[in-house]
Amino acid sequence: MDTVERVRLTPVRTCLGCRQRAPRTSLLRFAARDGRVVADAATRLPGRGAWVHPHLGCIETALHRRAFGRALREPGIDTSLVPTTAEDLARCGSQD
Ligand SMILES: [Zn+2]
Repeated sequence: MDTVERVRLTPVRTCLGCRQRAPRTSLLRFAARDGRVVADAATRLPGRGAWVHPHLGCIETALHRRAFGRALREPGIDTSLVPTTAEDLARCGSQD
């Protein structure tokens, strides 16, 4: 029963890249700050969040679809700070 409760209470989000639903804890949050998309590994930034698997494939797909702008309700938002290399990605994930 404990396990069932935990599963039910775990917030689920949809990855912007592969469109699969996953627990928040397995996704990387992005938020809009000063007109740019920034990684928010600590999930502390206010406002809407965009959730993507911390995988380059999912991030690239999301960028290609301009999914960040849609998810954050800021079409044309600057995505230059979104990690596109394994090194960038490792840096984003290390803020826990
Ligand atoms: Zn994904």
